[in-house]
Amino acid sequence: MPRPSARVLALPDYPLGKLPERKRQLIARGVDVIDLGAGDADLAPPDVAVRRLAEAAAMSPMSRYGFGVGLVEYRQAVTRFMLRRFGIAFDAMREVVPLIGSKEGISHLALAYAEEGNTTIIPEPGYLAYLGGTQLGGAEPYRYALKAGNGFLVDLDEIPREVLNQARILYLNYPNNPTAAIAPMSYLEDVVQRCRELDILLVYDNAYSEMAFDGYTPPSIFEVDGARDVAIEFHSMSKTFNMTGWRCGWAVGSADLLAPLVRVKSFIDTGAFMAVQAAAAAALDDAESFVAGNVSVFKERRDAAVTAFRDNGFACSTPMATMYLWIALPGNIPSAAFAESLMEEEGVIVLPGSSLGAGGEGFFRVSFVTSPDRIREAALRAGKVLGRMGAAAQ
Ligand code: PLP
Repeated sequence: MPRPSARVLALPDYPLGKLPERKRQLIARGVDVIDLGAGDADLAPPDVAVRRLAEAAAMSPMSRYGFGVGLVEYRQAVTRFMLRRFGIAFDAMREVVPLIGSKEGISHLALAYAEEGNTTIIPEPGYLAYLGGTQLGGAEPYRYALKAGNGFLVDLDEIPREVLNQARILYLNYPNNPTAAIAPMSYLEDVVQRCRELDILLVYDNAYSEMAFDGYTPPSIFEVDGARDVAIEFHSMSKTFNMTGWRCGWAVGSADLLAPLVRVKSFIDTGAFMAVQAAAAAALDDAESFVAGNVSVFKERRDAAVTAFRDNGFACSTPMATMYLWIALPGNIPSAAFAESLMEEEGVIVLPGSSLGAGGEGFFRVSFVTSPDRIREAALRAGKVLGRMGAAAQ
């Protein structure tokens, strides 16, 4: 049988890769499944996007290749959004890269900037596209274990000098998946400064920029002076607009820093469906009338989740952003065994922290992607599993 490459064989299993099939099997067995696994909301996308998609899909020019340029209307909507939301101006044609979901761009970016002999700095637990891109590009990941003690921030002073000297990319994601941590502005200023000194590309993954609560407004990395020299920021339509399956996102940054990504992509894809880009443009232009209402639904779910999981014996802090609770497991219960029992015995799907990398053990992640009642039911079932596993460990 033809053999896959060593790079592919070296990849870990993708945490969400097998879950849809497991879920299908549970449902076929008649289990009442509550899926809090993927960050994939059950809520409707904006009406304007649905309408514009239907309209655009009926226009035959939209069915042609978008190529790297894509739909100019989408690029312009992105720049209007970045200006309104963060106060930063970008050139629509030179400083925006339309993406087929931000995961696509994030993973391809490593091919543009890292190769054998280089290192990328990957916070763990974290989004696995950083690791995938790095390993498929032949570079070496330096796994930095995030710690609750310092707010799940990457402390560059803890990374050996040799690693920093070899590093081509630092991946940062705040608001953070899975820990829900947020980064203070002073921290971001410091990181930008360090990346400038060290000549490291700062990949700032801002997929959750609009999903924040209690008056917190996540910044863009470009609010930091000097970021344009070292940073590329990734944004997604997925979480903000409940458009995960539409596969649409964008990268912004200086034309020079984006050029290698554009070049890689020109050999790999030929652009997202332009009707989807048209719909995304409509959603972005109407963001102000959609986002606040959508976030308030997530806030209600967050509050329900925090209370319910605490009431059932778990410890977690109240997240200021994202759609996740990052919940500590007491008594050294392994997160994979806990998640497996919870799924098999109680039909509740969560992500074990260990599947998200080194620093994730001892935790599991819950996504607020269903109603408060179902979240409460899931927490109750999780409490039963905790009780059984805790008792067994004694
Ligand atoms: N970045 C982070 C941190 C994420 O959690 C996700 C999705 O879960 C993405 C990027 C990718 O989003 P998409 O490819 O749907 O735009």
